Amino acid sequence: MQRLVLLGGGHAQLAVVQALAQHRRSPVETVLVTPAPRQVYSGMLPGWLAGHYTEAQCVIALAPLATAAGVTLRQATAVGLDASARMVQLDDGGVLGYDVLSVNTGPVQDPRSWGAAGVPTLRPVEDWLARTTRRLAVAPPRRVVVVGGGAAGFELALAWRYRLGAVAEVAIVTGVSGLLANYPGAVQRLGARALAERGVRCIAGAAREIVSDAVVTADGRIWAADEIVLATGTVAPRWLQGSGLALAPDGGLATLPTLQSVSHPEVFAAGDVASRLDQPLPKSGVYAVRAGAALAANVLGRLAGRAPVPWAAPVRTLNLLSLGERSAIAAWGPLAVQGGWVWRWKDRIDRGFMARHGTGSGPVAT
Ligand SMILES: Cc1cc2nc3c(=O)[nH]c(=O)nc-3n(C[C@H](O)[C@H](O)[C@H](O)COP(=O)(O)OP(=O)(O)OC[C@H]3O[C@@H](n4cnc5c(N)ncnc54)[C@H](O)[C@@H]3O)c2cc1C
Repeated sequence: MQRLVLLGGGHAQLAVVQALAQHRRSPVETVLVTPAPRQVYSGMLPGWLAGHYTEAQCVIALAPLATAAGVTLRQATAVGLDASARMVQLDDGGVLGYDVLSVNTGPVQDPRSWGAAGVPTLRPVEDWLARTTRRLAVAPPRRVVVVGGGAAGFELALAWRYRLGAVAEVAIVTGVSGLLANYPGAVQRLGARALAERGVRCIAGAAREIVSDAVVTADGRIWAADEIVLATGTVAPRWLQGSGLALAPDGGLATLPTLQSVSHPEVFAAGDVASRLDQPLPKSGVYAVRAGAALAANVLGRLAGRAPVPWAAPVRTLNLLSLGERSAIAAWGPLAVQGGWVWRWKDRIDRGFMARHGTGSGPVAT
């Protein structure tokens, strides 16, 4: 019997599990390796922090999906991989052999670069969610500093502002590339205006050091905080190194247009852990979701002996950034618009995605 191992239950992998449920094939044993029995949907996290959604509305329960697909859920974390032996090493000491491997474990943050123990990173998202839930239950913060001016940092700074109201101070340290650096000028301008209008201080430049109760910026200024969110850039997981899999210059698992490893055709990867060599794609949840159908088709095709089909990744995607209250910015290519209707649009898309994976019900009325 062939064994398919699904490493990580990320956005794209959900499509593989769904496809397995639709085309159950008995001669294949499938194991889903996941650190938690659920997948947090990051697209709705800022809305959760702002109070628009409950936690239950933002998480996908993986166990029922696995059961429906005849997949065994193994709650563990991959800590190593030997591609020549086709073996995955797990943090519980177990070793899992595979015939076909589908990797969608997302990226990691490396807090060691900040030189401070206990720096509150945004990833793993599951840990951040638990820590923030505890924090809110004890005493909401009064001074929040978000480090990182990308989409996640921007949305979370505005979500904190909305949640805490005017009594709190909220600031965002953008990093050397500036606010929303991966977005076109029109989005950056709307983003900067949104922060200013809502009283979120935008600190241009890099953070140099983070201590337990302050962020020190490169110019030596100290920003006191009783809540720090480290939303800095992400990197590929370290366990890929030494795996024998070909890696891209950014450390990600190097893939072909078919989402196959460049070096090992029985290994497929999608989402932020993968780096497509022919067409470098933005590391984003939108691309991870969009890759799902192709990942599913090619992984199942490999098991059935069919040739893989290249994935034609979209050149541009719709990006929606929430602004704390029920308003959002929509970005499409160089164009950007903002309004309450954009938030309602985003809400429909997000809840539609969750409903497809068994998580239902509408937004909490506030
Ligand atoms: C607050 C926030 C807001 C964001 N907003 C946006 C946005 O507006 N637009 C956008 O495009 N992107 C956004 N992002 C980025 C987006 O979340 C990522 O690009 C996306 O999550 C990548 O998806 P993925 O499926 O590759 O990985 P993930 O969603 O991280 O899923 C990976 C899964 O693999 C599991 N896993 C991790 N390591 C291992 C391991 N070693 N072994 C087994 N399993 C493992 C994880 O537990 C997780 O379930 C945001 C991120 C955050 C945190």
